[in-house]
Amino acid sequence: MSFAASVLTLYPEMFPGALGLSLAGRALEAGTWSLETVQIRDFACDRHRTVDDTPAGGGAGMVMRADVLAKAIDHASPPGDPRPRLLMSPRGKPLTQARVRELAAGPGAVIVCGRFEGVDQRVIEARRLEEVSVGDFILSGGEPAALVLLDAVVRLLPGVMGNAVSGEEESFENGLLEHPHYTRPQEFEGREIPDVLISGNHKKIAAWRRAEAQKLTQERRPDLLGAAPQPLVK
Ligand code: SAH
Repeated sequence: MSFAASVLTLYPEMFPGALGLSLAGRALEAGTWSLETVQIRDFACDRHRTVDDTPAGGGAGMVMRADVLAKAIDHASPPGDPRPRLLMSPRGKPLTQARVRELAAGPGAVIVCGRFEGVDQRVIEARRLEEVSVGDFILSGGEPAALVLLDAVVRLLPGVMGNAVSGEEESFENGLLEHPHYTRPQEFEGREIPDVLISGNHKKIAAWRRAEAQKLTQERRPDLLGAAPQPLVK
C-alpha cells in the first residue's frame, strides 16, 4: 500500500520540486508514494477562469472562491475517499512529528494550497478541511508548506530511509532536541571531538548524548520538556 498525495494548487509546476530528488524522488519513482496535482483553475466556471474575488466586508487582497475550490476538492477526493483533507494555513494547528507519523501510517492526504489572503471560510467548513500550519510566519502560498509536510511524511514511509534507527533517535521523537553530532577529523581548527565519543564505552556515550539532549532542550525549547511523553531515566 503506497501513500497517495493529491495536491490542489494554482501552481502545479511547483511539484514534485524538491521532492523529485534524493530519497523522496527515488521513493516516488519506486512507487512508495504517488503524487497527483490538481489545477484549481480548471474548475473555474467563467470565461476568465476566475478563482478568486474581493473580500466580503472590504479590505486588501483577494479570497479564493468556495465554489471553485469545492469542485476541485470533489474531483480529487470524491465521497468515500479515506484520506484526510488538509488545508495549508497559518491559522492551522502547528504541524508536529506526531501528526506526521499519523499521516505516514495512513492512506495518503489531499492537500489544498491557499493563495492570496486565503480561502472562503465556507469551503473549509463544508469540506471539513483540517487547517495545518508549518510555523508562525506567513508564506506567499501553501505550496512550500505542502512540500514541507510531504517531505516529513515521505521520509517515514517504509523503505525510504536506509537506516530506520536514525529516524527514531531524532529531534522530537522522544520529546527532546537531538544531541550534537561529530565526525572526522578528530581535530578541527583546534576543536576536539568530546573524549567520551571516542572512548568506545557505549553506555557512557548514550548517557552523554541524553544529557546533552536535555541541556539543549532546556536552553532552546523548554516548552518541549513540559510536553515530554515520559520522564527520562538516568
Ligand atoms: N491572510 C492570511 C495569510 C495568507 S498567506 C492570514 O493572515 O492568515 C497565503 C496562503 O499561504 C495561505 O492561504 C496558506 O495556504 C499559505 N500559508 C501561508 N503561511 C503558511 C503557514 N505558516 N503554514 C501553512 N500555510 C501557509
